[in-house]
Amino acid sequence: MHAISRRGCLLLAPPALLGALGLGALWPHASRGAERTLAWYQDAAPPRVTLRLPEQPVRGIITIGIDVADEHDWVIESVDLDGIALLPAAGEHDVDTAALPDGTHVVTVRARDRSSAANGALVQGTFVSRNSGLRLELEPQSNQVGQGQTLVVRIRTDVPAQVQGTLDGSPLWFVADGLLNWSLAGFDAMTKPGQRRLAILATDDLGNRTEATFDIVVTPVRYPNEEIWLPPSTSGLIGSNVNAQEIARLDRLFAGVSPTKRWHGVFQVPVPNPIVSDFATGRSYNGGPITSRHWGTDFDSPIGTPVIAPAPGVVALAETLAVRGMAVILDHGLGVFTCYYHLSRTDVRVGQEVQRGDRLGLSGATGAVTGPHLHWELRVRGEAVDPMAWTRQTVP
Ligand SMILES: [Zn+2]
Repeated sequence: MHAISRRGCLLLAPPALLGALGLGALWPHASRGAERTLAWYQDAAPPRVTLRLPEQPVRGIITIGIDVADEHDWVIESVDLDGIALLPAAGEHDVDTAALPDGTHVVTVRARDRSSAANGALVQGTFVSRNSGLRLELEPQSNQVGQGQTLVVRIRTDVPAQVQGTLDGSPLWFVADGLLNWSLAGFDAMTKPGQRRLAILATDDLGNRTEATFDIVVTPVRYPNEEIWLPPSTSGLIGSNVNAQEIARLDRLFAGVSPTKRWHGVFQVPVPNPIVSDFATGRSYNGGPITSRHWGTDFDSPIGTPVIAPAPGVVALAETLAVRGMAVILDHGLGVFTCYYHLSRTDVRVGQEVQRGDRLGLSGATGAVTGPHLHWELRVRGEAVDPMAWTRQTVP
């Protein structure tokens, strides 16, 4: 304000003031020196200080830039960071942010020109540093799963992070959703109850890393048992080499993880018929011991019943298999597959995209069966889980 009022005087009454200063005789044909002197008096503009600070959060050593411009000489009176004095100079300043607490920091620069008014400038700017590892936690509902169920592993971080992880050493596929990263793991009905080890590595956009391990508990689930009586012609197939080869081939298919999540919302049941054999029912074939469990849900489906896609996906298999009969398998992404076996007809081909409700084919009685039905199976990372659970609740 002081500088502005002085300038005001000069503009309002230049002759009188110039006279008083002994410069009247030089006006308006003033010499260079006098012009400079006049400017020295008239300067009311403070130095223009530009502070160059990182716009994104930073870690480690960073450079703070200070530029000053003025018609006259100027001086930087002080540079401070969170109240700590730095060298009072323009140019580049290296600052090790690892020595600072994480968070927002304030840089203040005071400069002054060397005009008669000694116009001052104060410029402040902020930047954010983060050097300590990010915090991560496993959401409470993610630490337990029953046999035959789907586990949604939810990892929450305090800053956006890329999350990688393994479950008992086998890699999980994580999907980022803001501060949440989730992954799916399937546990088949015959998996051993007990603890599993979840190992997580989270990396933020600055490269800060945090590792953590968690215990996940698989709890026992009681499933019913049933006896299946197959004619000798098909019963031989169940424990055969043909079935082993078929299983090995399907396992390779289920191991593929396509990176796009295609499904959304709850799954629709593939046929409108009643269930005749539940998921995970223990099976004794032709009076033998219970050596396996049902990897799917069977619907009492008359031959020719339209079978529809429960959710969007891509056809991964559409052909006739020895044991599973005419089959369609859909890839829903992220290691989630659904299977439709014993069909009498298929209406889709491999690679075709399907939407919820699209017809995949007609139910039938092909392969090793006791009668017409639809066998529906859902695989998560290769493990058969209860498909009906996906029709009741949106996953994740
Ligand atoms: Zn079945």
